[in-house]
Parts: sequence; C-alpha cells; structure tokens
Amino acid sequence: MTAIDEVFAPGGPIEQALSGFEARPGQLQMAQLIERGFLEGMHTIVEAGTGVGKSLAYLVPALRSGKKIVISTGTIALQEQLYHKDIPLVTRALGIPARVTLLKGRNHYLCKQKLENMRADRLLAPSRTMQQIWEWGARTQTGDRAELPFLPSGDEWEQLDADADDCVGEYCEHFRECFFFKKRDEAKFADMVIVNHALFFLDLAMGGGLLPPYDFVVLDEAHQCERWATAALTATLSRGTIGRMLRKLHRSYMVPAHFDAEFERGLRGFESVLARVPGDRYPLHANEEAWPALESLRESLFKLENWLYANWHEALKRKPANDAEAERRRDLAMRAILAHEATIERAQAPSDTAIAWVERGDADGSYQLNSAPYDVSEYLRGMLFERTQSVVLTSATIADNGSREEAFEFLKRSLGVADAQELIAPSPFDYPSQARLYVAPPELNPKTPNFAKLAAPLIEECLDRSRGRAFVLFTSHARLREVYALLRERVAFPIRLQGELPRMHLLEWFRKTPNAVLFATGTFWEGIDVVGEQLSCVIIDRLPFPSPRDPLVQARIEALEARGLSGFDHYMIPSAIVRLKQGFGRLVRSKTDRGMVALLDGRAASSRYGALILQALPPATRITHLDELTEFFNA
Ligand code: SF4
Repeated sequence: MTAIDEVFAPGGPIEQALSGFEARPGQLQMAQLIERGFLEGMHTIVEAGTGVGKSLAYLVPALRSGKKIVISTGTIALQEQLYHKDIPLVTRALGIPARVTLLKGRNHYLCKQKLENMRADRLLAPSRTMQQIWEWGARTQTGDRAELPFLPSGDEWEQLDADADDCVGEYCEHFRECFFFKKRDEAKFADMVIVNHALFFLDLAMGGGLLPPYDFVVLDEAHQCERWATAALTATLSRGTIGRMLRKLHRSYMVPAHFDAEFERGLRGFESVLARVPGDRYPLHANEEAWPALESLRESLFKLENWLYANWHEALKRKPANDAEAERRRDLAMRAILAHEATIERAQAPSDTAIAWVERGDADGSYQLNSAPYDVSEYLRGMLFERTQSVVLTSATIADNGSREEAFEFLKRSLGVADAQELIAPSPFDYPSQARLYVAPPELNPKTPNFAKLAAPLIEECLDRSRGRAFVLFTSHARLREVYALLRERVAFPIRLQGELPRMHLLEWFRKTPNAVLFATGTFWEGIDVVGEQLSCVIIDRLPFPSPRDPLVQARIEALEARGLSGFDHYMIPSAIVRLKQGFGRLVRSKTDRGMVALLDGRAASSRYGALILQALPPATRITHLDELTEFFNA
C-alpha cells in the first residue's frame, strides 16, 4: 500500500482528485497520527485549526484501514458534507470502494404503520401540512423527513415518526419494508456509518442496539461530546414528556379520559410550585415544595400503570395479530410510564454522582425536571474508551491551553480518556496579517450595571470601521436585547436580531445583504460558516464563562474542589477558552478572509486568567486603538 504521505503529496491521489488542493503539513501529520492509532490500537486527540482539512485527514486513514468505522459529528451540515462531498472524493482518490451509510435517529423516519393507521382513522388530513406529509409518505423511498420541503411541527411529526416506543418491530406488518429498519440493516453492512452525536451517545447509553458493532470511532466536533453524553444520560419529566406518553397510550388504547384530567391537574400544581424559586435552572433540592408535587405525579403514574396492567388486552384500539404483539405493545407503553417513575425516584434519591435540577423552558415558561450524572468521564471510560480499539477525538477547538503542555487536560478529564496520542495541527491561515484582535480597556466590565451603555458606543464604532458585515455575539439574551435596544436606531447598516427569522433564514439574509449586522447569542457561536468579506467583524460581549449558577456547572466545580483542584482554573477557564475559540473561529474561514474580533470584556486585558485565555486564541495581531482598523480595512 502507498505510504500515507504519498497520498497527500503534490501530484498524489488527493491532489489529482481535488482541484486547487494544497498540501498542508498539519493535515498530513494528523493523518499519519490517526493511521498509527488505528494500526496500533491507540486513541488519538487532534486539535485541527480552521483550514487544516481535518475531514480528509481522518477519512484517508479510515478508508485505508479496511475496518468498520463510525463517524459522529455535532452538526447536520458536517454530516452532509462528509456524505455528499468528502467521502466520495476520498474513495475516488484512493480507488477504495466503500459502502457508506448516513444513519439518523429513529424519529427522523416515517413509520408506515402509523401513517396507515392515521389514514384509516380519518378521511381527511387534519391540516394542510399533514396532507403534504401524507402525499409524500405515499411516494418516498427513504422515509427521511429531511426530504420534506418544510420542517413539520413536533406535534404533527410525532404522530407519524418511527419512534421506538410506538414500534412493535417484527410483529409489524411493514417490518420488512420499514424505512428505519432498512436503514439500520444497510448500516450493518456498511464500511462507514455516519451519525450525529445525539444518536452515537444514545446508542452508548442504551448499551447498543441503534448502531451496528464497529472497530473504530471518529468523534468530530469533539468539543460537544461531554454535552451530548450528558444529554443521552439525562432523564426528564415535564409537561412535554407526560403529554407524549399519554398521546402514545391514546394511539394504542382506549384510555379513560379522567387520566388526562388528573395529569393536567398534577402538572399545573407541579409547575406552579417550581415557578416559586427564581431562575431558569436551579437544583431541585433548592425547592422543598417540589416533593409533594412530585409525589402526586408519581401517584397518578402508579394508577396509570395499574390500569394498563389490568386492561392491556381489552383496551387495545386495534386487534393485534397475536398475543405476542399485544404483549409487545403493552411492554412499550409500560416502559414510558416506568421511565417517568424512575425519573422521580432518581431525582429524589441523593447520589454522589448525579444531580437533579429544574429548568424553565425558553418559549412557553413551562418547567422540566432533569436528572443526570454531572460527570460522564467514568461512564465513557468504561463504555467507550476501554471497549473501542481506537477513538479519534478532533475539533478546531479542543485544546484549552495555549502553551501546548497538557493542552487537552480539560477534554481528557471530562471525557475519561486515560491515554491518547495528541497533536495540535495549527491552522495554515496567516492570522497575524489576516486578523486583528481588539480588547476593550479594563474599565469596561460586563459585570457592572452600566456595561450596556458603555459598550454600545464601542460597538457602533467597530461597526463603522468594518462597514457592518458583523456578528455581534452575546452570552445572554437579556444583554443582547438591552444592547440591541440602544443601537437599533443608531446603526447605519441593515441590522437584525436573532429570533426575528428562523435561524437558517437569518443566515441567508446575512449572506445576501450587503453590510449586514446580526445581533445573536448561543446558537450563532458555532457551526456557522460565512466565507468571504460578508463577515469581517465579530464582536463578543464578554468572556464566555459557564454560568456558575448552573446546577451542572456547580456540581462539576464542587467535585473538582473536593479533589483539591481549583474549579475556576480547571473548569471555568478551559470552558471559556473552548467557547471563545468557537466564537473567534467564525471570522477567518479561508486564506483570503480578513477581519477583526473585538472582545468587549476589559477583564481579558487586566487579569491573569484573561491573559491565559487570550494566549489560547489564534495569533491575530492585537490592536489597542480602533483607529488602527482604518488602514486594515482599507488595504
Ligand atoms: S417496524 Fe416499527 S417503525 Fe417500522 S413501520 Fe412498523 S411500527 Fe413503524
């Protein structure tokens, strides 16, 4: 077999397959290390700066290995890019045929049985969109809802999705041609399976069953792994989850209506009690009144469980093909009830490793109870890193230390990676000439009440210098709205606020509108790719430390301090570095992009931790006066 450096060399197979390809030392180093990890059974961690070309750097050794590989990513955009562009390119270049499957979670696929039942129950579709789904359902070959030209509402799609709780598997008459099961079978025979982190970590949490067995794993956008692993292990009880459970029961059984009324009463009481403690997220133990409300919900769940136990056969709406199917349906329904009971029990039982917290929904003000381990490292060590021969963790932003010593300490500790070969593959971009970094003077402190008033003129000046073409990013919605209200009438460029349009439409507006300015928060910190001068300025309001009031953050910090480590040094600073690098990373996406980042948090210039955080950013030229931008932007 050709040595891997020849694959990436000038005139080599990749250059022949990809016009405009330039050999990059960081990409080759990364590919060599990953190949060695596959051959010798070692885990590999690589931070690949923007422009390194990390997907080719792992796809080439992955295809050459001849092993079964799962590639998991954080965003749909990256999955699509791998599936439609990068993998075909590498297979063509290497001349290695590969069977590749992009597998999504069950709820992305249409359930033929549900569609058939629904159409049999009603003559007409209940809405225009449902009519469109019915028509599409009759002709689709994949059942993947991404084919629809619109995103169906959660409530509508739930009535038709292939969710496990509604599926009787081999007892279903459509089992052989079921969209989800066909896709899962395809994945069994594939050389490479592409999934998202939600599905990957859910499979781990369920002990397998969603993904076929695999030899190696590549976790791209690995800075999101802790979040997704925690989410997969989080048990939730809310109006939404109880409502879903009841709707599922109603689809299969003639459930007496008094249960709906009883749960509605219980949920109203539960939510009003949870609303008495202020804050969007707080630990459950901070609200003693929650216990009786939870007990009352548990009583209702017990009653429902007993009713189902007594009536699972007679109350079925549709005659089952046989007793086994009826039993399967009962077990599925029972599983949803028992899961809610278990969530209450977990929340009530104190534990050294898990916490329970209350969370307020953004949109409707409803509340949910969550329970999860705050530390997933032991679990991942046992379930993933000790069981898989080689795991590759990569991202443009996973090193938490500019000095490169122990650069991945934060990632390794939070994910439970004991041993791995490591590499920082620096970006090939010329940051000193392509980017400017402005840090506000020390007096500008986001913790002071007059911050918005002081920051607004500075933002206005930055926007004047960059002629708009900017993202103005905030760490909180409240601060976003406050500053936007001050500047909305003053900014001389087209300006929009996150939420005015759906995210994708807002991005499209930004890409197409000359000199546009977008005020946004969280979701625009990462996964956004605006190449070219349309995005020339990124303004960030403050160092993005996690909220110390967040119960999960509190628990993680307390655990570190119990081990004699500083929570600030070992959790808050590395978290802020990874997050800030993501925000910074929106700016320079190609060798010709130029632009400035303005950090409005003066603490970055005046504190020890500020220096540490700035040191970890890409090496943009630091400026102290915005005047210096005139020449930069006019060049
Ligand atoms: S096998 Fe399950 S998911 Fe597939 S069509 Fe039947 S019930 Fe729906």
